[in-house]
Amino acid sequence: MSNYPSHFSSDLLLTILSQAKTATAIHSTDEMIIETANDAMIAIWGKEKSIIGKPIEEALPELKGQPFLGLLQSVLHTGQTIAGSDTRADLMVDGELKAFYFDFEYRAIKNDAGEVICVLHTATDVTARYLSRQRELELESELQAANEELAATNEELAAANEELAAANEEMSSSNEELASTLEELTVTNEELAESQEILQTLNYNLAESEARFRAVVTQAPVGVCIIRANDLMIQDVNDAYLKVVGRERAAMQNRTIWQAVPEAAATYAPIMNSVINTGVAYSAKEHELQLLRNGVTRSVFVNFVYEPVRFEDNSVKAVMVVTVDVTEQVEARRQVEAAEEMLRLAIDSANMGTWMADLATDKLIISKQAEKIHGVAHGAEMTLTAALNLVAAEHVEKVSNAIKQAVITKNSFDTEYIINPMDGAKPRWLKATGKAYYDDRGRPVNVSGTMIDITESKAYDQQKDDFISIASHELKTPVTSLKAALQLLDRMKANPSPQVLPKLIEQSNRSMDKISTLIEDLLNLSRMNEGQLKLDKTKFTIAHMLNQCCNHVRVAGKHELILQGDEELEVMADEHRVDQVIVNMVNNAVKYAPNSKQIFFNVEKLGNTARISVRDTGPGIAPDKLSHLFERYYRTDASGYQNSGLGLGLYISAEIIRKHGGEIGVDSELGKGSTFWFTLPL
Ligand code: ADP
Repeated sequence: MSNYPSHFSSDLLLTILSQAKTATAIHSTDEMIIETANDAMIAIWGKEKSIIGKPIEEALPELKGQPFLGLLQSVLHTGQTIAGSDTRADLMVDGELKAFYFDFEYRAIKNDAGEVICVLHTATDVTARYLSRQRELELESELQAANEELAATNEELAAANEELAAANEEMSSSNEELASTLEELTVTNEELAESQEILQTLNYNLAESEARFRAVVTQAPVGVCIIRANDLMIQDVNDAYLKVVGRERAAMQNRTIWQAVPEAAATYAPIMNSVINTGVAYSAKEHELQLLRNGVTRSVFVNFVYEPVRFEDNSVKAVMVVTVDVTEQVEARRQVEAAEEMLRLAIDSANMGTWMADLATDKLIISKQAEKIHGVAHGAEMTLTAALNLVAAEHVEKVSNAIKQAVITKNSFDTEYIINPMDGAKPRWLKATGKAYYDDRGRPVNVSGTMIDITESKAYDQQKDDFISIASHELKTPVTSLKAALQLLDRMKANPSPQVLPKLIEQSNRSMDKISTLIEDLLNLSRMNEGQLKLDKTKFTIAHMLNQCCNHVRVAGKHELILQGDEELEVMADEHRVDQVIVNMVNNAVKYAPNSKQIFFNVEKLGNTARISVRDTGPGIAPDKLSHLFERYYRTDASGYQNSGLGLGLYISAEIIRKHGGEIGVDSELGKGSTFWFTLPL
């Protein structure tokens, strides 16, 4: 038992420190004389060992004008530790002044009386991490922009993934560094002897040094816990370790490691035992464990090493656990990965193509969807020049300027243009976005972005414009006639003519009906566009409804409405909407088959549907037109008819029937008449 030290000596602790890859230096006095600095710190500074013993601004003149001396002095004066992450320092390395980024800590080291005796300076060069984090932030904001516009690219994604992979590599290589740092932290007997020398080079008496170096390890920025091999009692543990496991110091004292951290025992006790039995170190990266931190179970990721510490006879006397909490890095990376996945889904679901042009070689890489849009064979070699050749002559300049401007201004572009696809397909409208990317010296490397085929929506815009002009035109006729009637009425108001008066009133009413119908169609259309066509279903007898509808036609007396078929059949449907469908069919028969004296209603039960039809004996409809009748805005040649509508009636009817779960159609033969029919589920 007496062979096991109760504590590690200050010499050992000093050696641990001097071997550490974590850059460490100690400064004293107002000039911040470099009392000692380990190899890692000398390497960061890019200087020679000979600077030890010099005031810091003499050793590193480039620090003049940077805030570090002031910060060090304030730590010495106030005893308040200063720490920073991703802090920029400009250092002269290999004769060149370069920017580096550090996580650093200036820690006030105090003697037992509480006086500050020196400043412990630890630093980790995080330049690579900082730059990749910057890139990640950039990616995140790009993602937001992409989601808003649905405009980002698979190639951007590929590039982003590459960046991410590089970032991951960097992250894993820095983790490897960390692991090897942790390995370095293990001391051999030889190193112990070396540490003795180092101790002697320091001009402090031994008692003071001992206190100092105990303090140094206690306050080291990586978690260290030393566990006795024979009984797993915790020998020593520093603050950083307490922070990782979320325990008070008292909870770790006079206990075995598994008494102190029982929730980790199931997983880690076997590993610890095997390190003790075999004497082989064990290290792990990004281990996820559930830790009870301050009473709350938390999922934590750690990198750690179990390092055996040996006796002279080579038996293992203790295990040194060195650990770093990497939860933040792991979570940040996962967030970026999730964001990438979302971006990919968004791009796929939007049928978006993506492209990337290499500015040096003119090579153009495009996604499958973009190949389809351009009518290019899959995998064919493409160049930016060849792609610009497909752009319609009137748009070439616009597109190539957009790309040039994007390179110069570093802004993204968004442009619409026509292309003539390579495979000879009809011209297409494209909407393309793009953004230039630069190397680390700011030289443009490539331009990449998205593209989407907007031919349909452009055609639809055109249709809409046409429709608006037709609608205005159609409204103008009844408004003019109403105005004329009102002017005449106005003129004769003092002395109304009994013959003309009723005619004028009738003309006004007809015009008003026409206006109401047109407005009703427009309202129905906009309701349908907004998905607001709601059904209010009741049970009713179809024949009953047919007998009551279309009284305006019966009153006019030009057509006879004849009901045939099942007079009892009932349906559950929106009676008002079904009535609207019938009225539209009858009105069409009146308009387009004016000489059909008789208009027939037929009601029959077909399977589990009710089939209702409206038949006329008019001119019929040409077969090539039949399939278009139910399309929005479709009208056959309207010139022959006084009262043609907006080409909306049958379209709206089809929507109403579709909403009911029924079918709609027409049978017609030129010269014989037309039968418009629909079904409703029973
Ligand atoms: P509109 O409001 O223009 O009448 P519809 O959608 O109701 O629009 O009808 C579309 C087209 O179908 C009409 O323009 C007309 O050419 C044709 N049509 C509809 N019903 C008949 C019919 N009974 N006989 C001949 N043509 C018809």
